Amino acid sequence: QTIGAFFDAMVERVPEREALVVLHQRRRYTYRELQTESRRLASALLGLGLKAGDRVGIWSHNNAEWVLMQIATARAGLVLVNINPAYRTAEVEYALNKVDCQALVTMPSFKTSDYIGMLRELAPEWAHAQPGTLQSERLPHLKHAIWIDEAGQGEDVPGFRRFSDLMRSGDPADPRLDVVAKLLTARDPINIQFTSGTTGFPKGATLTHRNILNNGFFIGEAMKLSEADRLCIPVPLYHCFGMVLGNLACLTHGACIVYPNDAFEPLSVLQAVQQEKCTGLHGVPTMFIAELDHPRFAEFDLSTLRTGIMAGSPCPIEVMKRVQAEMHMGEVTIAYGMTETSPVSCQSSTDTPLDKRVSTVGLVQPHLEVKIIEPDSGRTVPVGERGELCTRGYSVMQGYWDDPARTAEAIDAEGWMHTGDLAIMDDEGYVNIVGRIKDMVIRGGENVYPREIEEFLYRHPQVQDVQVVGVPDQKYGEELCAWIIAKPGQVLGEDDIRAFCKGQIAHYKVPRYIRFVDAFPMTVTGKIQKFRIREAMKEELG
Ligand code: ATP
Ligand code: MG
Repeated sequence: QTIGAFFDAMVERVPEREALVVLHQRRRYTYRELQTESRRLASALLGLGLKAGDRVGIWSHNNAEWVLMQIATARAGLVLVNINPAYRTAEVEYALNKVDCQALVTMPSFKTSDYIGMLRELAPEWAHAQPGTLQSERLPHLKHAIWIDEAGQGEDVPGFRRFSDLMRSGDPADPRLDVVAKLLTARDPINIQFTSGTTGFPKGATLTHRNILNNGFFIGEAMKLSEADRLCIPVPLYHCFGMVLGNLACLTHGACIVYPNDAFEPLSVLQAVQQEKCTGLHGVPTMFIAELDHPRFAEFDLSTLRTGIMAGSPCPIEVMKRVQAEMHMGEVTIAYGMTETSPVSCQSSTDTPLDKRVSTVGLVQPHLEVKIIEPDSGRTVPVGERGELCTRGYSVMQGYWDDPARTAEAIDAEGWMHTGDLAIMDDEGYVNIVGRIKDMVIRGGENVYPREIEEFLYRHPQVQDVQVVGVPDQKYGEELCAWIIAKPGQVLGEDDIRAFCKGQIAHYKVPRYIRFVDAFPMTVTGKIQKFRIREAMKEELG
């Protein structure tokens, strides 16, 4: 099935249920309204002359237009290209040209980001162009630029169309939509998502209806979502966490999507959960930490919460326990995945025993295969041993867009996606992610897994957050380095940390370098970029 067909079937079941609440835009849509508006937008996009398979970019923080674009492009057979709102000119130029985007929808500006300004810098030629006839040297494929306006407010931008005008040009009853729907298949690509860039330059993964619709559905199943649920989504939509674990898990189960804000901000999450009586909340670990440690945390009634997903990066047991106890999310689960696998491969369900739920990423998702191998030989390792996790099945991407060489490196001839993540599976099938191959540190011939040391240091009562990386060392090849954020108002010194480690972990696992910082270098998805910590240390140590 395609996303459009699946969504329409849900609309017939729950037409009057609320489907979407966007608090910062003060907008609310029922399932029926979302159907009508997404049909209107799909019709408008076809009206621009875009044809099935054409790429349409969205460069924006979270808003109603984003979801409308997600459903409308799927209906119109277009390929939505998610562009990170933190990208700057050179990055957006690369992304748009990499996939030959013919159209782009963007916010005019956000805080210090002037999106229209950046596009004008790239394409000064547009200043004298009519909308729809854009031509420029640096963005040669882009014909249509659309800016998200608030109901006709603000001055016109030369060359750009307003989103509100585009919407007005569409017709929900457009017969072309039904023709396109008949021609679409579940294996058509609908989405190109760039990976987070945690380990280096982002790669564009091409995903189909089958990939992400199935994945969204099974995620919602594991969470036992129903029409009674309202899920607060503070994670960015441009990333699969927001658009699949959030939007699609909800829309395939008749649940309501709640966006607290355009970008993550802990107070607005707490307010949204209370006001909208949310039953679920998603986040990367750093978001949950920011919410729990917010000075006004205790003022909010979060008792409606029951479930949610923590994912995206290693989820410390301590944080999972606090979320369960202090946020009432007894059914919170961890999910593990990557952009290239739509994204989720492993997830605990609300039925998973508590200890497994906080300490593992759960079981393999239905209809997927997983194996754990020795990276060099490809031999499958015995249960309980560490190796590289590989996945196969409906969720594996079609490939990296226009990059057969990297696709072949990632997906082998038998269809296995090599994730680059190190994992251990126990005899009951529960999977533990123990780090990335790229992050593994080899100190004096000894393999050290930073994740293990991080888990240990989290237990220090004054440590709020910690990251461990390897830095080059003449004598040992690599040495360990810990960056630590102390809890607010706490003063911590190197000696405290060393004393804490003494006698508790092997001497070679005690970080040689310990630094106290206020923040870690992060992607906008809230993932910590260890490679930047390593770079900073290399610079410091000369
Ligand atoms: P890039 O591939 O560009 O370096 P990235 O791998 O971070 O960036 P994503 O596809 O967004 O980009 O993230 C997938 C990765 O996130 C996984 O490969 C894994 O390393 C990590 N990850 C996701 N979920 C979990 C989890 N529950 N526990 C541990 N790690 C996780
Ligand atoms: Mg990756």
